[in-house]
Amino acid sequence: MPEGRYWLQTLGCPKNQVDSDKLAGMLEADGLAPSTSPEQADLVVVNTCAFIEAARQESVEAVLELADVRRPGARLVVTGCMAERYGEELAAALPEVDLVAGFGRRLVPLGSARVTPLPTVPPPAVPEPVALGARRRRAPSPSLESFDLLSLPRPASAAPWAYVKVAEGCDRRCGFCAIPSFRGTQRSRPPADVLAEVRSLATDDKMPVKEVVLVAQDLASYGRDRTAAHRAAPGRVRRPTPLVSLVEAVAGIVPRTRLLYLYPSGLTDELVDAVLATGVPYFDLSLQHVSRPLLARMRRWGDGDRFLERVAGIRRAEPRATFRSSFILGYPGETEEDHDALLAFLDAAQLDWAGFFTFSKEAGTFAEGLGGQVPEELALERLRECTELQDTITARRRDGLVGEVREVLVDAPGRGRTVHEAPEIDGIVRLPPSLPVGRLALVELTASHGTDLLGVPVDEPPAAEPPEPADAPDAAEAAPDAAEARAPAGAAR
Ligand code: SF4
Repeated sequence: MPEGRYWLQTLGCPKNQVDSDKLAGMLEADGLAPSTSPEQADLVVVNTCAFIEAARQESVEAVLELADVRRPGARLVVTGCMAERYGEELAAALPEVDLVAGFGRRLVPLGSARVTPLPTVPPPAVPEPVALGARRRRAPSPSLESFDLLSLPRPASAAPWAYVKVAEGCDRRCGFCAIPSFRGTQRSRPPADVLAEVRSLATDDKMPVKEVVLVAQDLASYGRDRTAAHRAAPGRVRRPTPLVSLVEAVAGIVPRTRLLYLYPSGLTDELVDAVLATGVPYFDLSLQHVSRPLLARMRRWGDGDRFLERVAGIRRAEPRATFRSSFILGYPGETEEDHDALLAFLDAAQLDWAGFFTFSKEAGTFAEGLGGQVPEELALERLRECTELQDTITARRRDGLVGEVREVLVDAPGRGRTVHEAPEIDGIVRLPPSLPVGRLALVELTASHGTDLLGVPVDEPPAAEPPEPADAPDAAEAAPDAAEARAPAGAAR
């Protein structure tokens, strides 16, 4: 068994963080312990992001920085999206790196006695099975065990909340996105596996998780690759979609269930009802733009009017509903009218949170070959305009919460979140440091500072604890469709 200490640095989005959690579990199962700093680690792992050019640059900078600070003899391993997508190029460009390993590759060679000293690690620096992308992937070498990250066990959470990835890959083909080319088509985890992971997080002795954040590349399509049975046959009662069943089951285990990355056409009435029933009325809709012709060029569904209608309908049902979205500026063909339409939408929708990105031309995507490229300066100017407007809206939305009483989950000493803030993405609620981590406490929101709020505990009994995990619906009962026929990929968009 290997032994020693590891340092794991994660770039990119929450989905990557889940992979890192699983990698940490695997490294610890391999006998390694976490290091308190990269300088002291025997194994330094960088889980990279390849989403856009800026993310790739950040990943490479992180690799180079860690190469500088690692101690002599420590191994440096690069994994994640960049390793998967650019394995050979990356290995050639970064001679500092000892191993470039795509998804699901063991980072510590089996049978090595220790991670360090370096001579125990078999050369060459770049092993044979460097990932070459989903379509060109070679069979894994017998010396590096291949496994499915999704189904790996994970270590206990360090916080009272945790991301839980429910599917990998994506069946859509958005014009700007290279993710399906290296993450593959959607593969949903069986509901029983997801629920077992949630139960184990919720019942951890040291840090029982109170909030589960469900993530996937296309969360609304969860389970569609496993079953088509939720679509009603003529004359039959329609069954809940797999995601609705899963949300209901998870909400029976933990007090808070939050969903990230919902493709807008996947936000059905029954999913809205299921989300509202969890008590976390938080809707993260990946809208990307609002101009119908531009969305069509993006190969995406919807338009601003439909989005506004949806937001208004949800707010009618739940005035406390919180909305987040992300938008791309400067997609090929984006006109001034398109941009004005986006600004008008932001003004009308009054979303609580929004992220803006300039278009990044990705090799192999539909958009790579599109005409009408928008100059970078113009895209940046549009991004600045949207950000300025949204900052004002977000500040107003945060001010609107001042004076309200809300339940917070204490994430860390002096820091918590109401249902209006997703972890790591949105603002926080600053709290008295005496509130114990993991506590669900009622606070009055007394002031706002930028995106953060100030919370003062009120003299009310704490909210009811969640039901015992044993009371949660049985996995099979929660998702009776799981064993049934496979749905055609890409159906029902
Ligand atoms: S839904 Fe679109 S943007 Fe999201 S991962 Fe799939 S192809 Fe990419």
